[in-house]
Amino acid sequence: MVTCDKHTSMDDETVLSPMRYKCQICKKKNIDGYSNPDHAPNPFGYLYLAPMICEKCAESRKQCKWCIA
Ligand SMILES: [Zn+2]
Ligand SMILES: [Zn+2]
Repeated sequence: MVTCDKHTSMDDETVLSPMRYKCQICKKKNIDGYSNPDHAPNPFGYLYLAPMICEKCAESRKQCKWCIA
C-alpha cells in the first residue's frame, strides 16, 4: 500500500462498492468505492469516494492512489 502523508487517513475507509471504478492508468474496472469521510454533498451526487488508480498501479508506480495521476 502506497499512501502519501496527506491521505493516510484514507486507509481506514471502508470499501462500499467493490470493483466499480475504472483505473486511470490501466483502464481496468478494478477500483473499489470507499465510504466518504466528509459526508458532504458533492457535484456528482453520490457518497462514494474512489481512488484515481487501482492498487496494482499504485504499487508499481509507487504512487498514492488518492493523488491524481
Ligand atoms: Zn490500474
Ligand atoms: Zn495522496
